[in-house]
Amino acid sequence: MLNHIFIDESTWGGLCNTGRRQSPVDILTRGEEVQTIRSFSLNLTNFKTPESKPTIKNNGHSGFQIDLDRTPRYVTLTSSVDSNSAKYKLQQLHFHWNSKLHTGSEHFINGASSDMEAHFVTYNTKYPSFAVAANQPDGLLVIGVLYRIHAIPLTKLRAMTLVGNMTRNVISKDSTYTSSEPLYLTGLLPDLSRYSLSKPFNPSLLHDIIAHGMSFQSLNSPDFAVLPGSLTTPPCSENVIWVVFLDPLPITLQQKLPFLDVRTEYNNKEVPMENNRAPQPLYDRTITLAKSYYFYLD
Ligand SMILES: [Zn+2]
Repeated sequence: MLNHIFIDESTWGGLCNTGRRQSPVDILTRGEEVQTIRSFSLNLTNFKTPESKPTIKNNGHSGFQIDLDRTPRYVTLTSSVDSNSAKYKLQQLHFHWNSKLHTGSEHFINGASSDMEAHFVTYNTKYPSFAVAANQPDGLLVIGVLYRIHAIPLTKLRAMTLVGNMTRNVISKDSTYTSSEPLYLTGLLPDLSRYSLSKPFNPSLLHDIIAHGMSFQSLNSPDFAVLPGSLTTPPCSENVIWVVFLDPLPITLQQKLPFLDVRTEYNNKEVPMENNRAPQPLYDRTITLAKSYYFYLD
């Protein structure tokens, strides 16, 4: 009996089947695939500005999202060994989930899945639009944040409650809902402000570390992984730089429940949507871990 439908990957063609840098993957933080880098900078610009009237739309499993392109928000990512100076603009936010406990994230961390995963989808501003960038080899960067259900969460992600409440209004496919409550994106991210610098920081300059009075030992901040990958829905384009935070954020069961009511269409029937793709082979990719890094958040 088919209770839940989600991803019928047998119908996916092209790169989804033949690609060698497909996402998601199981991110192992030990082993030969991992190359640790100690100096990394992730700059999130204008992320503290809330989305004043967030609109969520349900266009089926690849189109359940909140568009965020009205307010310009930018991401840059630099490391001491890779001078990627690309500037990425935030386009949209969406979520992945599954009805079973502690499954639903797309990325696994050391063999373990989590309950949900948010994707902040950005595109390279050297291209005029998301639609153009989506077809370029250096077009996209996606930030992944995992969430795990805790019986007694350490912190309450109020923004997740808001997204859940919005989700209740777009249960049916091809529906849209606009909230009058502002959505704070920082409420869906790790508490980066605790580790933020007051101005953008060039990690390749050691004297900046001294100027900021910081030592590597003092930076006990959440780690993230950086790796090349793909879209996790067709056409599975292999033009995504992934930034995935390794520590899942705590949510409650109540916060996940609204997503389990979301419907999509399968064989002309409305069925519950589950939309997490299984981990794909890593092949010859290297996962870079940012063990010590710097944030700039405004
Ligand atoms: Zn996604």
